[in-house]
Amino acid sequence: MKLYNTLNRKLEVLHPINKDVVKVYSCGPTVYNYAHIGNLRAFIFSDCLRRALEASGHTVKQVMNITDVGHLVSDADDGEDKLETGATREGKTVWEVAEHYTEAFVSDMKQLNILPPNGYKIRPDGYARATDFIDTQIIMIEKLLSGDYAYITEQAIYFDVTKLANYGALSRQKLADKEVASRDEVVSDPDKKHPFDFAVWFFLAGHFQNHSMHWPSPWGEGFPGWHLECSAIIHATLGDPIDIHTGGVDHIGTHHTNEMAQTEAAFGHALSNVWLHNEFILVDSKKMSKSSGNFYVLKDIIERGFSPSSFRLLCLQAHYRSQLNFTWDSLAAASNRLKSLQALADLRYQTTPGYAGETFITLLKDLPSRMLHAAQDDLNIPQALAELSPLDIVLVDGLKEGDRLLFENFLDKCIGDLFGIDLLSSSDITEQQKDSIAKREAARKSKQWQQSDELRDSLLEQGIVLRDTPTGTIWSRE
Ligand code: AMP
Ligand code: ZN
Repeated sequence: MKLYNTLNRKLEVLHPINKDVVKVYSCGPTVYNYAHIGNLRAFIFSDCLRRALEASGHTVKQVMNITDVGHLVSDADDGEDKLETGATREGKTVWEVAEHYTEAFVSDMKQLNILPPNGYKIRPDGYARATDFIDTQIIMIEKLLSGDYAYITEQAIYFDVTKLANYGALSRQKLADKEVASRDEVVSDPDKKHPFDFAVWFFLAGHFQNHSMHWPSPWGEGFPGWHLECSAIIHATLGDPIDIHTGGVDHIGTHHTNEMAQTEAAFGHALSNVWLHNEFILVDSKKMSKSSGNFYVLKDIIERGFSPSSFRLLCLQAHYRSQLNFTWDSLAAASNRLKSLQALADLRYQTTPGYAGETFITLLKDLPSRMLHAAQDDLNIPQALAELSPLDIVLVDGLKEGDRLLFENFLDKCIGDLFGIDLLSSSDITEQQKDSIAKREAARKSKQWQQSDELRDSLLEQGIVLRDTPTGTIWSRE
């Protein structure tokens, strides 16, 4: 498996630390609102990674967090806590807001056929809440303080970025350059030593004196900074260093840079060997984000008559490192592609004697390794999907009874497991519909055009489209 490691800016062959298990951590959602489809792209991408690793024979241990505390609107140390903003907006407690949007998120994941993380079993849904790991976060702060990587002010405990020699290695932005770029930045805590120092713990003081989520700590009541949760969760669940860490490109400069720094300072080794970042979904060429208001959620997609799988396929058609400009037309095209894949899969119900034959069998034997090869090439899922096109010959020729099992196995492993697109759950048409197809064929053969048309129209009303081929009539779902 070759992956583009943001840390080294190059494609690298994956060498898992422990050859039996690949440890993967994926930054999860902040649950103060519904995840928008840009966020969902990030999770479809990490799911593709998991599936490609598993298809390559690796056992994957994956953890994903749910940020239910500490993520401020600015992504840094200023502004409201996103959860508190959600609570004020909805007249609920922060805990109610977190629970509601966590449930909505888990439901989105199920609808998109995203495998639940398997490395954290305490929560039945598998997602690690930041608030489940306050103890580990406090232990890490103790280590940072005792190693002189952090300092305490009246408002917060900060990580001192000047203390870690390779701070910023991920973004490759030198501290001096960052400083010039942000000279005008408002620093709300006068005791913060350096603008890029980041809070690992906020006290109930100043701006946050009425913050509703807080825990005791050796230094006073408060709540953890956002970046700390991921380092702590990784430490407690997977053990650092891990093999692969994922998230969107917006996390490179601050969130992931700070996650890395905390772990290196607290434990003296790297957080992750490989860092993968997905590009954005854009709308009208701008990043989709909640703050810009230019976002759609999964419900919008469903309300427009599209299935979650169509959106999944749309994401799969673009390489994860390319931006994806979302339009309803592109979603419609993905939906049509899904229908043609479904038509292909439904051929297993309508075998004809003698057709498809050798070309098809050769294809079925050849395709899995070609698809896997593409998936192993920095998750080139668009290429893996493109490998399917020659299969269209069965749409013309029909499928031979003896090839059905091989075909079903292909649909299960290569499309179901690798792409997370389930084509096997569709049922066969009813006996009555089969009967109508046979009657229509008989009518057509005896040139009773009116009866033939009536039967075809009646099937169309039931969502069944007929196509006449040299070997007989093939149906597909509209
Ligand atoms: P958040 O809930 O803001 O922490 O974001 C969850 C995930 O979505 C993170 O990995 C982000 O980097 C990613 N993300 C945010 N906006 C977009 C976007 N427009 N397109 C793709 N990924 C995004
Ligand atoms: Zn994170």
